[in-house]
Amino acid sequence: MAKVVFFNMPGATGHINPTLGWVEELISRGEQVIYYAGEDSRHKLSRLGAEYRTYDSWFDYSHSADGSTELIPMALIQLRLAEACCEGLIAELREESPDYIIYDSCCIWGKYIAEALGIPAINSLTTLVSSPYVLISDYRLGAHIVKELLLGVGKVFSARKRLIKLFKKIGVRYRGLIYHVFDIFANVGDLNIVFNTKQYQPFVNQIKGNFKYVGASVPENRDAVSEQFNISDNNPLVYISLGTVNNTNLNFFKNCVQAFSNKPYDVIMSVGESSRIQELGPLPNNIQAYAHVPQLHLLKHASAFITHGGMNSLNEGLYYGVPLVIYPQQVEQAFNGRRFQKMGLAKLLGSESPSAKDLYDAVVFVIEDPAMKGRAKAYGDVLKTAGGVVTAADEVLDYPFKKKRLASA
Ligand code: UDP
Repeated sequence: MAKVVFFNMPGATGHINPTLGWVEELISRGEQVIYYAGEDSRHKLSRLGAEYRTYDSWFDYSHSADGSTELIPMALIQLRLAEACCEGLIAELREESPDYIIYDSCCIWGKYIAEALGIPAINSLTTLVSSPYVLISDYRLGAHIVKELLLGVGKVFSARKRLIKLFKKIGVRYRGLIYHVFDIFANVGDLNIVFNTKQYQPFVNQIKGNFKYVGASVPENRDAVSEQFNISDNNPLVYISLGTVNNTNLNFFKNCVQAFSNKPYDVIMSVGESSRIQELGPLPNNIQAYAHVPQLHLLKHASAFITHGGMNSLNEGLYYGVPLVIYPQQVEQAFNGRRFQKMGLAKLLGSESPSAKDLYDAVVFVIEDPAMKGRAKAYGDVLKTAGGVVTAADEVLDYPFKKKRLASA
């Protein structure tokens, strides 16, 4: 039995959910898992048999829309958290003596704590691998990021200074500004488990390093269905959610109500906060709104999914062969939207505030196009057969550095 320390971003449901099945699989194979995350994950992790730990001794952070929509603020958050926790965690883990570290690709501290301790660093990527090739593949994203970097050049250089100072303190190597600018969103490790497909990653063959694309991590039995959802067989079900972070756009939900009121569709909306349900006003019989829903359960029944374009939601929808209407709330989601539209799996809503008619037309478009449905099903098969959490666990357990280390222990 080896001991693994897993670092994730407190409150980042979309980064944590895909790792749950993986953790369960590792534990079932005899690994001891210590998992650092936010309070909201305590129960999810403890019930799998992982030892849940908080970052409370070092920082108080929960992922939210405030920092996650633009790249430089997000990078600065990562840096601030790393500065707060690296030294303390290194001291704590020296006592603990883990065999390897797994970290979410947003947890820069995971990569460098592993390096400081001289143990394997395994990266968990739940979106895609950030690389210059992603920018080349999508000129709008490229232009956006170049502009952000130019406007924020002062911040980038002061972050560089802080990074060098931190690395000096913990005894790890600074690899140059260009490397770290791209790596801060990839945090490439010795082994990199990507919960996505090779088809999705732009210029996949150009990406150097030890990357394993294992498809979607969709634990089919994840959601306990506690509420009685009114799903009829008569009308197609349209499921609507803006995820768990950028989900505050009340106008959008109101437009959805207007779009589908008394139309031949059943609609279920996940609106994020109970208070928002009241703000929507009285709902017609064919529309239901909840603060949070068992998304996987609903997707099994859905004919179309209006989503913000978070990677998990996209993959979960396609896993069940559901064509997508994507209404992005931030840069990365807009990229996802363009990519899936190009792959013929989604309709991207171009407007920042789509009207009721835009929403209705987009849903009709994806539901009535049998070719799109066929492609969504075929892509779902790719997501299902790429190996998932079982392959992710195989890869970790076979990881040569770790084997060598365990053999010599
Ligand atoms: N989710 C859910 N019920 C909801 C809303 C979201 O179970 O009512 C889950 C969803 O299945 C997915 C995650 O929350 O696993 C959202 O992740 P995603 O990457 O799509 O978006 P984020 O919330 O990170 O923006």
